Amino acid sequence: MGLSFDPDTLPLPIGHFIGGELVAAPGEIRMCRPSDGKAYAGCPIAGPDLVEQAIQSAKAALKASNWAGVRPRERVRVLHAWADLIEAEADTLARIEALSSTRLINQLVGGDIAVTAEQIRFFAEFADKEGSDVVPTDDATFGMILSEPYGIVGAITPWNFPVSMAGWKLGPALAAGNAVVLKPSEMTPFSTVYLAELAIRAGLPAGLFNVVLGDGLTTGTALTGHPEIAKVSFTGSTRAGSAIMENIARSGIKPVTLELGGKSPQIVFKDADLSKAADAIVGSLLFNAGQACVAATRVIVEASVADQFTEALVARMTDISPGPTWDEATRYSPIISERQRDRIDAIVGAAIENGGRCVTGGKPMDRQGYFYEPTLLTDLDQSSPAILEEIFGPVLTLQTFKDEEEAMALADHPTYGLAAGLFTSDLSRTIRLSRQLQAGTIWVNRYSRSRDHILPTGGYKRSGIGKDLGREAYLANRKTKSVLISL
Ligand code: NAD
Repeated sequence: MGLSFDPDTLPLPIGHFIGGELVAAPGEIRMCRPSDGKAYAGCPIAGPDLVEQAIQSAKAALKASNWAGVRPRERVRVLHAWADLIEAEADTLARIEALSSTRLINQLVGGDIAVTAEQIRFFAEFADKEGSDVVPTDDATFGMILSEPYGIVGAITPWNFPVSMAGWKLGPALAAGNAVVLKPSEMTPFSTVYLAELAIRAGLPAGLFNVVLGDGLTTGTALTGHPEIAKVSFTGSTRAGSAIMENIARSGIKPVTLELGGKSPQIVFKDADLSKAADAIVGSLLFNAGQACVAATRVIVEASVADQFTEALVARMTDISPGPTWDEATRYSPIISERQRDRIDAIVGAAIENGGRCVTGGKPMDRQGYFYEPTLLTDLDQSSPAILEEIFGPVLTLQTFKDEEEAMALADHPTYGLAAGLFTSDLSRTIRLSRQLQAGTIWVNRYSRSRDHILPTGGYKRSGIGKDLGREAYLANRKTKSVLISL
């Protein structure tokens, strides 16, 4: 049977995870499997009392383990052991992830899970290499910049890549000497709970990584507003990011890293390898059915090759193998929920009603679960909601340009700036436009991440504040103190 599994018999760790133990709680939020719509569990909701308990457990664990003060190599050792165990238990972790989410079992073990283990090791290695500095001052003084962890980091993650997003938060925060209380999405919480179980088995002191389940309004608000949460690290929508900033501003001041939404352009010049460009763009669109923050969503193609390029896109968009996430043969994911599928359909419907042309797709798939056809829309004007709003589904728009200036005007989004793609064989143009594009990540002649975790990721404009991955993410989990000594 390989990695495929029976979704009706898979055991799930249902509960919060506090002080090294699963804290069973009644399921309050109804959870349905995106692949077939079947209700299978309920997500508990941690109220302020339980959030308090998780934070106090983290505080006690920081003190008892001296996690911030142990030899940094000890933190490296524990985090490496955790990464090894994640790899050893990849099949189980992948099955829990695939059951609740839109991630495909065949992409998880060698993809999300392997990359998460690798990233935890990557961040662990900063622990004994990045430190404090002695700085140049005059002979009569001695100046130092001391680097210290924050204490307890409050992390909140979305449903689209639950394990990977948790890894992005946990790796740098724990390596940097902090404790973490993490609230995963209420739609996909159990893989994060299992990650916490593995951390304990790997030797992470109990309480250093606690998981509280629940929704944004109750659990998320209690977590981000708690005075003993020293820093907040969030990935999710721009709307929730704003609410979190508001809550933090009201309840106290603390640093916050926000990885938010996007509506990323892909600019295709006629001198590009058009076949490779179409592969890259459609590959990104079909990956997780477009439910990725950096998903390829807005193609902006040079007018003289637009027909040819449209054909190349459509050929690739219609070659899909939808199916349940737990079947190894599946290549195309469902949408996370019925509500989100209907939202996608409403935006596409409105675009067509307002004069847009649907070249392919345009409706929910006639099958069990919440699947939506890969969709290509053209003939839209720049103010159309299909061009401006993050759809978070397999919907691509296509616009044309006559010259570089027009391409850049179309690419520039009024509020988002997460990523951008550039397809051209002209080196000077590559450098010129990479400088001009207002986005935190620019991919040239590709449209995907690599496993070079040293490259930070994060948004310009309302796509976010701060970075995940890279050295920046590690440093964002430490604060500095200037010390000046008169000799
Ligand atoms: P969401 O904002 O609805 O929820 C994300 C998380 O925030 C969930 O755990 C949710 O419970 C919580 N939350 C919601 N409101 C909150 C509040 N007021 N206070 C505290 N917590 C709150 O997002 P989603 O639908 O789960 O995920 C999709 C979004 O995430 C998209 O916008 C996508 O672009 C974004 N995303 C961004 C990145 C990135 O790196 N920039 C990566 C993945 C996803």
